[in-house]
Amino acid sequence: MKQDIIQTADDVIAKTYSRFPIVLERGEGCRLWDTVGRCYTDFVAGIAVCNLGHAHPGVSMALSKQAETLLHVSNLYYTIPQAELASWLVENSFADRVFFCNSGAEANEAAIKLTRKYFNDKGESHRFRIIAMEKSFHGRTFATLSATGQEKIRKGFDPVLEGFDFVPFNDIEALKNKIDDATCAVIIEPIQGEGGVHCPDPQYLKAVRRLCDEQKLLMIFDEIQTGIGRTGKLFAYEHFGVAPDIMTLAKALANGLPIGAMLAKEEIAAAFGPGSHASTFGGTPIVTAASLVVLKFIQSEGILEHCQTVGRYFMDKLLWLKERHSVISQVRGMGLMLGIQLDTADGDAIVKSCMEKGFLINCIQGHILRFIPPLIIAKSDIDALVACLDELL
Ligand SMILES: *Cc1c(COP(=O)(O)O)cnc(C)c1O
Repeated sequence: MKQDIIQTADDVIAKTYSRFPIVLERGEGCRLWDTVGRCYTDFVAGIAVCNLGHAHPGVSMALSKQAETLLHVSNLYYTIPQAELASWLVENSFADRVFFCNSGAEANEAAIKLTRKYFNDKGESHRFRIIAMEKSFHGRTFATLSATGQEKIRKGFDPVLEGFDFVPFNDIEALKNKIDDATCAVIIEPIQGEGGVHCPDPQYLKAVRRLCDEQKLLMIFDEIQTGIGRTGKLFAYEHFGVAPDIMTLAKALANGLPIGAMLAKEEIAAAFGPGSHASTFGGTPIVTAASLVVLKFIQSEGILEHCQTVGRYFMDKLLWLKERHSVISQVRGMGLMLGIQLDTADGDAIVKSCMEKGFLINCIQGHILRFIPPLIIAKSDIDALVACLDELL
């Protein structure tokens, strides 16, 4: 049966992913089972999505209750879960308004459109250029791949959307020098995810904020990966003593259901009036009901504290590995968004060996191992993975 499924999939699904040859069937907490009954400890969490783990009973219950009540009605009408989720997000962030969509790319797309509309409405349509970071990742739609500072993601799709400039992350002088009369915003991941788990220098984001204020630029934080507790705070910006003007969320926002959100301050959000932007499925009752319980669990069950504690524990263990294995050149990250950079070794081979030993981990950029487990991961699971890596390296 396993080979049949893999064969069928390979025959008919677009070849945009090279997949590992296992068929996952069931999950519970930090464990996944495949169709031949093998169990895996999950350090990927659906790429920083299932922050509460798999088959979380509270989320499942909210989902089935909402499924029996109302799935979808469109945004022509009000619904209770959407209003409640938006209120929760506004109460727990810098923002005043929320636009709902279905993915990270769509959330960034909304942020880019809002930025352009805001400057247009001010009569400053000549200001449309957005400065993004090298090694950033903002999505795969045309606008978001145009904002992504990785050649390999834009390759083959020229001409991309005009209006994006790139500077190195953590380089405030480069940013300052790139600003001109056409610049209107800066878009940044507080910690770069797909680009390799790159953390900002302690004062960098504050300096960007100051620069944006001086030059009247909007500051957009892409917290699609760093948000919803991943770094040990609800949103990563809370670590750095700054708040953006616009923030995008997706990934873990509903623990596995497709949802995206773009949050903004009132003055900026006002540029989106009726008819200016839309999404059929945006903020549908079923996903917003799920998201609301996810956020309440993240906030109330000690998840953030646990993430900070085990995140530090994990980091110490990875640093211990670095002492023992010269192939590790750097250990980076925050909370449970951690990465180790390998000098020479083939990261994909290590991922494969880990899988054979019952651990799912992820490799980015060919040589950076990324660890983004559910936030409920136990120290004993971390110990087991680290022992496995110690042996493999
Ligand atoms: C995953 C990701 C995106 C894209 O999200 P999709 O839901 O895949 O469109 C954008 N920005 C960051 C930082 C991400 O990690």
